[in-house]
Amino acid sequence: MSPGMRFICRALTATLFVLLSQLSIADNDQLDIQTVNTGWSYHWGDVPYNGSWQMQTADWTPLDVFNDVPGRPKGTTILWIKLALPAGHWRDPYLFIDSVDLTIQAFEHEQLTYEFSHISLAGTSKFEGWPWHLVPVSSLDEPTEIYFRIFSDYAFIGLSGEVVIGEKSDLLQRVYKRGMAGMVFIVILFVAGILVTTLGIIKRERRIALSTGLLSFDLVIMMFAENELSQVVFNDPLMWRYLAAFSYFLVPFFLAIVVREWFTGVVKRIALLVCAITSVFILGVIFASYNFGVSFINAYSIFDGLFILLVLSLLVGCFFRRAPLGFQDGLVIFGILALFLSLLADMFSAYNFLFWISHAGQWGLVFFTLAMLTVYLAKDRDQQINLNLLMNSLEKQVEERTYELTESQKRLEQLAQEDFLTGLLNRRSFVQQSKRELANALRRHAPFALVLFDIDHFKSINDTYGHGVGDKVLEKIAAVTKRTSREGDLICRYGGEEFVILLPESDADATHTFVNRLHCALQDISLMANNGEKINITASIGVVTFNNSTSNDADNHIHPEISKLLEFMLSQADEAMYDVKNNGRNGIKERTF
Ligand code: GH3
Ligand code: MG
Ligand code: MG
Repeated sequence: MSPGMRFICRALTATLFVLLSQLSIADNDQLDIQTVNTGWSYHWGDVPYNGSWQMQTADWTPLDVFNDVPGRPKGTTILWIKLALPAGHWRDPYLFIDSVDLTIQAFEHEQLTYEFSHISLAGTSKFEGWPWHLVPVSSLDEPTEIYFRIFSDYAFIGLSGEVVIGEKSDLLQRVYKRGMAGMVFIVILFVAGILVTTLGIIKRERRIALSTGLLSFDLVIMMFAENELSQVVFNDPLMWRYLAAFSYFLVPFFLAIVVREWFTGVVKRIALLVCAITSVFILGVIFASYNFGVSFINAYSIFDGLFILLVLSLLVGCFFRRAPLGFQDGLVIFGILALFLSLLADMFSAYNFLFWISHAGQWGLVFFTLAMLTVYLAKDRDQQINLNLLMNSLEKQVEERTYELTESQKRLEQLAQEDFLTGLLNRRSFVQQSKRELANALRRHAPFALVLFDIDHFKSINDTYGHGVGDKVLEKIAAVTKRTSREGDLICRYGGEEFVILLPESDADATHTFVNRLHCALQDISLMANNGEKINITASIGVVTFNNSTSNDADNHIHPEISKLLEFMLSQADEAMYDVKNNGRNGIKERTF
């Protein structure tokens, strides 16, 4: 794992830790508050009005819980709810209401004590958003009754969430704590969104990264708009509702883009369709609210159904692909599923199918983003592994190539020094190495000798048996010469069928012995020609020994420069060899200095 990734993981772990600790302080234990579960009754339509609302004269039907008031007559947009509160100990009591569909007035002792968005006497009103409400209650020294006049032209009417009574400061503290718990999710989602986007862009998964990032940021906007604290930050419930609604409507759109970028096959087409349907829906909502005065809020219930349909079809498309699902695909599907289920839970609790779950949706959103982040981390790890493999194989290859290169360089050097046919030293390297040997010998006053021999009538071998056989003979001569010489001797193919040997540390006697041995060895060479004839060879050998012991005379006599000395030795050997040639070939001529 790269240091960056390690940092990200630590940061996420730390954030999760903070999140969990925030959630644990979000309980109500330390706060002096109480959920209002009893004392509810309702009345459909307006109660009589006579200068003031005549609540006492109306019929009231008791209600177990205030959620989902039954028997709404068709077209009724006004609902009255009565709350009988027992005496309490609070000094400055308030009622906290999670949410109201859609607008609300509160009365106590026939006095209007609270109003959110005006409801006319005729019972008309306008949607202004879904904020939480703090409704003041007069001192609870004795029991009292609070009446709510609620307006809704929406599918639902009444209160949702929970109603809690307590000291205003405690209720606000509760709002803050719940909001903060939600904010932790939002921050995680926001940070994860940025990470996913950045990582994706770095890893060159630009389109997937951007689509995932957009979805995360869309969810961040949705969650913040839904968060209790947004109302504290900026008290414009309608604006927040617009943001929340349209970011919610956009969830399937961005989800489809993610799916489209991530998966292949038929689900790509489903995703395209989801994008198209969502776009048409959103444009339709905007069009309808501008032209027909239809509140966008009515789009919610339609969209909830559409949301289930669209996301389910995406999920089904992801599962039923021909290609097998990999680990990362599985994670992406898990993320989408978590997102889907949590939004579903949110939806159901809003419709009162489920009990009210605070932050139900937010867990899913966090799961989704964490899943996506894990995918990127896995990708990063894979790339690290691939990179390591690549580096290893590269290193190995470089090693191999370097070895091959040095080997071939060695070989080249060797070839540059060698005679290609016999493998003996060639003339150039012989001269080089000989100079070194001569310098050593001069320094140590050691004797040395130079032997030069030429094969007699070699031309006729070529002529008789062919050039190929001539080559074989030359190879054989080289091998025999090598075998006859000592380790440190420098053996060179000096010309076509002319060879020269430098014998370091070889005085006249030693040289004499060597040369005779060589002469015999060469003579003993016998090769079978193709026609079965035996090929014998002889050589004319010229030898020069340089005693080099105390011979100051020789030092003076011979030019001290080494190359000159070598030239001299070679010419002397050559002369000696030609003497042999001139004297009938196949023989030895020795000279000593
Ligand atoms: P001499 O006794 O006077 O040395 O007679 P020779 O025929 O050996 O001398 P000459 O210099 O006239 O001929 C040398 C021949 O060696 C000529 C050439 O074709 C042959 N020769 C030189 N290099 C090679 C070689 O690499 N392969 C073969 N097969 N023949 C070579
Ligand atoms: Mg010859
Ligand atoms: Mg020759």
